[in-house]
Amino acid sequence: MKILVVNAGSSSLKYQLIEMTKEEVICKGTVECIGIEGSKNTHKVNGKSYVVERPLADHTDAFNLVMECLTNKEYGSISSPNEISAIGHRVVHSGEAFTKSSYVDDAAIKKLEEIAPLAPLHNPASLACLKSCMSIVDCPNVVVFDTAFHSTMPDKAKMYAIPYEDYQATKIRKYGFHGTSHKFVSQEAIKYLSSKGKPSGKIVTCHLGNGSSITAVKDGKCIDTSMGMTPLEGLIMGTRAGNIDAAAVVMLAKAKGMALDDMSNYLNKKSGFLGVSGVSSDFRKLCEAIDNGNERAKLAYDMFAYQIRKLIGSYAVAMGGLDAVVFTGGIGENGARIRKSVAGDMEFLGIKLDDKLNESAPGGSFADVSAKDSKVSVLVIPTNEELVIARETKEIVETL
Ligand code: ADP
Repeated sequence: MKILVVNAGSSSLKYQLIEMTKEEVICKGTVECIGIEGSKNTHKVNGKSYVVERPLADHTDAFNLVMECLTNKEYGSISSPNEISAIGHRVVHSGEAFTKSSYVDDAAIKKLEEIAPLAPLHNPASLACLKSCMSIVDCPNVVVFDTAFHSTMPDKAKMYAIPYEDYQATKIRKYGFHGTSHKFVSQEAIKYLSSKGKPSGKIVTCHLGNGSSITAVKDGKCIDTSMGMTPLEGLIMGTRAGNIDAAAVVMLAKAKGMALDDMSNYLNKKSGFLGVSGVSSDFRKLCEAIDNGNERAKLAYDMFAYQIRKLIGSYAVAMGGLDAVVFTGGIGENGARIRKSVAGDMEFLGIKLDDKLNESAPGGSFADVSAKDSKVSVLVIPTNEELVIARETKEIVETL
């Protein structure tokens, strides 16, 4: 069974064709600059890249180009679109319309249209891409949401303390994001820990990348997470501010004469590592600047580590204990330094890192970096959001 996973942004479309028998990626690619100048697709197969440049007005043009590449006589992987058994779509926000992945029928399309405004930069693009796929390839489509894994959060964790009727009218509350990643790495952790006869009921998963979020996973289910109604809440990130006093936002807007949209751009794109350090949103560049004595880069780094530690502590309290901490995402998988800053000096919580194992953990691979006598396991687990989407798509299609 071959499943195509697509992840559409407002001007981009990423895809992977996955053979599900061995869960192997056959080929993948990224279409960039859809609807703007310079549009192209970079298609990758067997370690080689093929770039096709041409104007692409919309997601239908983009998806037509993807199909041309997939079926190309020289470097294509399938001879006809009929070989695709199903298409799985990443959708960022489910609102309260969906709590799990869903087969796409007319009713689902209607609900997706209704919730599109909840994530104005992402959901409309996914919907446009979904409609293009449905018009071009005759196969089942499934939507998989970033928010779905967090739908098990209890009300006390997910509600904001605003007048309840406003929540009812707007559905504004905490939803959480990176759900496919938190689900994947927590399930992998549970499998590993169970095979070792170790407890796995209370896990904190730290997805640390350009966007970062932390989730408390109790008995395999999310009970709390750091991102909110939007991915802005929670930790300091590459360019996002994370938590900030809402009244301070109002004061800032007044002080700088900023309109609401400008303020949103300021908090999402100009803050975080970039804003505090003045150096870069990129974690590696931040670390280089620290090594060159940059104090503001160090401040941004220290804020990041401190906030992660606080969240681990508060989630241990929320779960009534802690069995494992998992690091994933570009920073979590590769950053021995931040893992040490977070998980070193945490023996009071039962966390004991093996410094050598942590330092030598190869980026992009599974590693157990806990000391032998650590009560809490510290794991590095590469995430695979596309595989989660493909698995859920397969599961749903098989029940049709
Ligand atoms: P996204 O959230 O866009 O998916 P990623 O998960 O790919 O991002 O993470 C990107 C971040 O990972 C960047 O800040 C980058 O500097 C950081 N990163 C990548 N490789 C390393 C590394 N070897 N050491 C430390 N940080 C790294």
